[in-house]
Amino acid sequence: MPHRQITGKLVIATHNPGKLAEMRDLLGVYGIAATSAGELGLPEPDETGKSFRANARIKAEAAAKASSAAAFADDSGLAVDALDGEPGIYSARWAGPDKDFRLAMNEVQTRLMKVGAKSPERRRAHFVSALCVAWPDGHIEEFEAQVNGIVVWPPRGAKGFGYDPLFLPDGQTQTFGEMSAEEKHGLPPRGKGLSHRARAFLKLAEACLGKP
Ligand code: IMP
Repeated sequence: MPHRQITGKLVIATHNPGKLAEMRDLLGVYGIAATSAGELGLPEPDETGKSFRANARIKAEAAAKASSAAAFADDSGLAVDALDGEPGIYSARWAGPDKDFRLAMNEVQTRLMKVGAKSPERRRAHFVSALCVAWPDGHIEEFEAQVNGIVVWPPRGAKGFGYDPLFLPDGQTQTFGEMSAEEKHGLPPRGKGLSHRARAFLKLAEACLGKP
């Protein structure tokens, strides 16, 4: 089955300003302007899925239905090997009601110390991004990617958002928190995609946007 192409209006199904900025950057490369679910005042659906993929689909389908336009959602998070993949789909929740990621990063470090994970080999982790585009007629397109690395302590850098200052991607000397947005995405022509979101987005772009 050929992938459905994205044309015309697109709604970004997120209320997270950090993710919105990154998704706008990525879509902008392809000349696609998008409004966000937050800006349209669409309600945030409960993320009741058991996987990144299921939650991305819930968000994209809810926004497509409410806006009668194609909608694009990302569900993502940090999975730490020594913590059995936690925080995983609960990455946002670990920051508490005030969305305080110092709290969330402290929690990761505290739990890693509890299981005695001090060496880099014991601190392996990956970010995952599941993307879903949903159309009002029920059609969906789904893509997923990850980036592997280690959890560093203390956190480094004030750029990015969420767990970025904790995460040192394999083969890099800077954490995501120390990188500019361009460095974090690592998009062509300079790179082949570095962040989980950029890597998933490149799959989506190839399938549904035609290459730039
Ligand atoms: P959700 O996908 O909206 O449920 O939330 C995912 C959460 O994972 C975000 O709030 C961040 O805490 C974290 N996260 C996802 N992607 C990134 C990233 O690129 N950098 C840092 N944290 C991220």
